Amino acid sequence: MIRSYKIRLLPTKEQEKMFWEHINGARFIWNWALNYQMENYKNGGKYIFRYRLIKEISRLKELPEYEWLYEISNRTLQLIMFDLDFSYKMFFTNKNRFPKFKSKKHKIQAFPIRSERFYFKEDFVQIEKVGKVKFQTNYNIPVAKYINPRIKCINNKWILTFGVECENQARNLNKNLMGIDLGVKDLATVAYGDDCFVFHNINKSKRMKKLNNKLKHLQRNVSRKYHTNGNYEKTNNILKLETKIKELYYHISCIHQNYLHQTTHKLIELLPKRVVMEDLNISGMMKNRHLSKAIGEQCFSEFICQMKYKCEWNGIEFVQASRFFPSSKACSCCGQIKKDLKLKDRIYKCDCGNVMDRDYNAAINLMRYEV
Ligand SMILES: [Zn+2]
Repeated sequence: MIRSYKIRLLPTKEQEKMFWEHINGARFIWNWALNYQMENYKNGGKYIFRYRLIKEISRLKELPEYEWLYEISNRTLQLIMFDLDFSYKMFFTNKNRFPKFKSKKHKIQAFPIRSERFYFKEDFVQIEKVGKVKFQTNYNIPVAKYINPRIKCINNKWILTFGVECENQARNLNKNLMGIDLGVKDLATVAYGDDCFVFHNINKSKRMKKLNNKLKHLQRNVSRKYHTNGNYEKTNNILKLETKIKELYYHISCIHQNYLHQTTHKLIELLPKRVVMEDLNISGMMKNRHLSKAIGEQCFSEFICQMKYKCEWNGIEFVQASRFFPSSKACSCCGQIKKDLKLKDRIYKCDCGNVMDRDYNAAINLMRYEV
């Protein structure tokens, strides 16, 4: 399977300039080729394969007004033709819409790089035409064949992404099973053998509350500015505020992502034999207005997705209990079903005398789930 990596780059001013040249060149050549393809179709021509387009690009570069394309890695331009081919293929097989022209305003700008000239050494990464670029990461980057490396600009941050083909690891697993109950009060309550682990809801931390308040404040500011100018024009002030909002949004989503990765990593490192989670009907739950915000922020589906693939890497069996499995309503002691259990009941009380935390009760039921 392919494992994907995402690494923050720290280019110098000079390198950043070259990144932008590549981004602009990549966008230009995409739009040029798409237009070429469309004009050709209009004139009754057949689909042009990338090899011919690549030849056309070489011819284009001979023209004095397109000489600037020489500043850009030739391989990057060729790879864009692969991208366009792929887009058309997806369109022809009804898997996607017709390819679109790329806009300068799109919030993610990116370009592909030549993987054969791309390697890591100490604290820099070598990128064709650009040179040695510093990077920042907590991963151990494997020495391997790197697949589809790309450089992206997201909110003025430079991100390098690539994939690595890796084999699933065979690890010595424990005999214990694990049940994970996802929730709004706490992110996850975990039953593992006789142990219980609770991972708190990060939105309730002081730091996140502060950031979320800041976000609300900025959003209110923007809408007020729109109202006072009346004609819904984007003034410089509004643009500045909107950039700030975007950056803050990105910052918050990074904290979420990070927290999810740390949590799922900790659980996987316990090396359970099997992990059982609920099959959440998330879209159904999102319709419940009181829950939706909290659930969205908790990124339940992202949690499940991470557990799934991390289990796969480590050879752990991953099971999702059926949607109708009464994980919350069943007593983990005697098995009786409590039909009148409400969402606000935080403590599970059974006639058999079992009294326990509602989420832990659910986690135990999941842990014992019979496939
Ligand atoms: Zn009971």
